[in-house]
Amino acid sequence: MGVSAGWDPGRPAPAEEDVVKCVSCGLCLPHCPTFRLTGRETASPRGRIAAMRAVEEGFVQLDESFATMMDECLACRACEAACPSGVPFGRMIEAARAQVEPTRPAPARGLRRAGLAWVLPRPRLVATAGWALAIARALRLDRLAPAAQRASTPPASIAELRRPIPDTLGTGPVATVLAGCVMDVAFRPVQRATMRVVADAGYTALRTRAGGCCGALAMHYGHPEAARAMARARIPEMEAGEIVVVNGSGCSAHVKTYGELLGDDPVWAERAELVAARARDLIELSPPPRDRGLGDVAVHDACHHLHAQRIEPRAMLRDAGARCVDLGDGGRCCGAAGLYSVLQPALSADLRRQKAEAIAATGAPVVAVANSGCAIQIAAGLREIGSPVRVAHPAELLAPDA
Ligand code: SF4
Ligand code: SF4
Repeated sequence: MGVSAGWDPGRPAPAEEDVVKCVSCGLCLPHCPTFRLTGRETASPRGRIAAMRAVEEGFVQLDESFATMMDECLACRACEAACPSGVPFGRMIEAARAQVEPTRPAPARGLRRAGLAWVLPRPRLVATAGWALAIARALRLDRLAPAAQRASTPPASIAELRRPIPDTLGTGPVATVLAGCVMDVAFRPVQRATMRVVADAGYTALRTRAGGCCGALAMHYGHPEAARAMARARIPEMEAGEIVVVNGSGCSAHVKTYGELLGDDPVWAERAELVAARARDLIELSPPPRDRGLGDVAVHDACHHLHAQRIEPRAMLRDAGARCVDLGDGGRCCGAAGLYSVLQPALSADLRRQKAEAIAATGAPVVAVANSGCAIQIAAGLREIGSPVRVAHPAELLAPDA
């Protein structure tokens, strides 16, 4: 599958045996979105690996310029997929970010720790914050915020927020469905459709607790201990199912690493391995074919589907009557990448516009996007260029009446 947690609990730094695999051939460079945008070696996979190596060998300190090189990376793993030497860049960048985290200035470190290691592991806090934000937006209170800080998705109506998502649906073997951190509030139609698709695929869909983050963001941004704590909190709910269904690419890729993430934990290792083996992204399910007359559907491949898991939603969409239209951009990252649009707004905006233009050029009226972060980013990009293309999760296309 090509997914890995990539964190050595004894030493949060890129492993030497990974770093030395890079032979500096440069074949990954044309595939790297940040190198293509900037032309800088320091924004390329080869440059980043050279910096990791220099730190490893003691020639370079863990300083601000090293942190910038790691922060500008999208962790999209396009380089990993292109590398003929098998350099596992995804786990290296996560380890490098864990390595650099203690060296950040105190205010930035405190803010990141508060969000990633304190708020996200607390389901009630996450769910309450999500609801407060959704209600404020439904009441249009977000207009009081500066334009740049407003969310880019249209607010849900109060009626939509009141419409329940079933806790369980269907018959057959149990499939646990990860509710996740903010999906229940921010993407309620996707959650309802997900339950329907899982039930259609022959399972009893059983939803986990709202607000329960899988830990992907914490892992991605240099807080592996918080990610481990969140994995331990999710596993008891997840192991109730014969499979575990996750409807976001970054989250499904991360849950598949639980075995490695907790591999050194004598209490949790076996259970984590079991959950990881049972994890499926929603786009890997095979509900019975049902022609919904979808017509042309542009397909955006999320990086953590295409590069980290090597999976894609076309078979599922074709079974629902879609004529899938590929984007002509080689599957380049849309610039959402976790918190990238917040932390690297300029680079993210360039990628957002390029992605929106590639989607609009297909001429399809709808684009399938199987990840919430990409959906927000792409919807904003399409609005920026004045395109009417609609953004929909594959689950919504398969279960439009959910
Ligand atoms: S990461 Fe792979 S493709 Fe890129 S320079 Fe190193 S060996 Fe070559
Ligand atoms: S993960 Fe993506 S942005 Fe980072 S070096 Fe690789 S290709 Fe470039």
